[in-house]
Amino acid sequence: MKKNIAKYIEQFEQTLNFSDLSWWIIDYKNDPGYFYCNKVMANTFNLDINAQKHSVVDTCPIAGDYIKNVHLASTNKANLIIKEYLELLNQEKKEYNNTFPYYDKNIDTVKYFSSKAKALELDEEGNVSILFGLIENITSKETLSKELKEYHNIIDTNVMTATTNTKGIILNCSSALCNITGYSKEELVGQKYNILKHPDTSEKVFEKMELALAKGEIWENEIKNQKKNGEEYWIKLIVSPIFNEQGKIKAFTTINQDITDKKIIEKLSKKDKLTNLYNRAKLDILLEKELQTFERYETNSSIIMLDIDYFKSINDNYGHLIGDKVLVQIASILRSNTRITDFVGRWGGEEFLIICPNSDIENTEKVASKLKDVLEFSDFGMKKNVTASFGISSYKENDTVDTLLQRADNALYNAKENGRNTVELIP
Ligand code: GH3
Ligand code: MG
Ligand code: MG
Repeated sequence: MKKNIAKYIEQFEQTLNFSDLSWWIIDYKNDPGYFYCNKVMANTFNLDINAQKHSVVDTCPIAGDYIKNVHLASTNKANLIIKEYLELLNQEKKEYNNTFPYYDKNIDTVKYFSSKAKALELDEEGNVSILFGLIENITSKETLSKELKEYHNIIDTNVMTATTNTKGIILNCSSALCNITGYSKEELVGQKYNILKHPDTSEKVFEKMELALAKGEIWENEIKNQKKNGEEYWIKLIVSPIFNEQGKIKAFTTINQDITDKKIIEKLSKKDKLTNLYNRAKLDILLEKELQTFERYETNSSIIMLDIDYFKSINDNYGHLIGDKVLVQIASILRSNTRITDFVGRWGGEEFLIICPNSDIENTEKVASKLKDVLEFSDFGMKKNVTASFGISSYKENDTVDTLLQRADNALYNAKENGRNTVELIP
């Protein structure tokens, strides 16, 4: 062994052997095909522990074993490492720094190593004459980071989530959120979170959210949002603050759960599909609730039952589709000429029911008369006016929903008997 390399080996034996680092050294000038290494390295890479030197091509984990086990790494990465190593030996670079996988046959496992090499001495022409390398086992770090990446991937593809700063500006978001909203990551990051808000969703909802979050609380709500293409979708939004080391809020994470299907089912179960008014099932529940309120607080609440006059002839003259359109228009007239607190529903076919909480029979009669007039003078685009007959009743002691409905129905019958387009009441 030439004197100069022996000097280094002795020096490294004394200084580096307390650690579990592998190190190797090549006298590239005099003995380029061989390297010397410490016992740790010989053990780690299953080299002959008693051999004084090892063949680079046969056994070096970078150039030798690494090449043999190339099938375990991606071809590109393998090529890259070998290219870099050769570049170093060709003196284009004087340092080498990389990580590489190594297949340990004895335990049938791939381990990961970080490899650093440096020219310790150059000859007069500037070529590497002595090359020194350190190899560190980074398998656990690498495994952890791989697991973290996999975990992150699962979240990214399956959970709609975003991080915003304290001003609601999106800092980051998941692919799942992009997929449902139709926006790309680039389009969302940097925007205010309410870029996703549907115009129907009130700003007040977000004001309340900001108040809760400012107190450090977790906030959740069901929100109607809008996709890039204008389509609406519903989410259950959970927003939680993230605190910095001083305990101050530094950002928010939002988790969005798509509840569009649930909302559609909810709507279908209480709304009439054609008119978007409450359906009969929901009216039954509302009538019962109002009865309980009446029993408890003795409120003056009333109901209006109305039936379109000669509706059959509209269908007969204009067809069922136009009949449907007339029903939709009537629904809109009823909705816009009653109080926001009144419940307007479709009782069946061309019959409607309005529950008027806190409205006595006289007041309700006025409401019905107004509706009667508005209907009669509304333009439905047909030769004859569209009119309706109205029956009214109020909740009274010992009523059940059925007895109340029966009186309203009888009043409606009277209205029909009395020539239609009229209001009758049975208190
Ligand atoms: P009146 O109530 O004044 O006695 O006469 P009418 O012609 O309105 O009464 P009738 O109950 O005989 O007819 C109601 C008609 O309403 C019959 C039915 O085909 C029609 N109808 C019920 N539901 C719908 C619907 O959803 N769409 C349409 N186009 N027509 C409907
Ligand atoms: Mg009718
Ligand atoms: Mg009818």
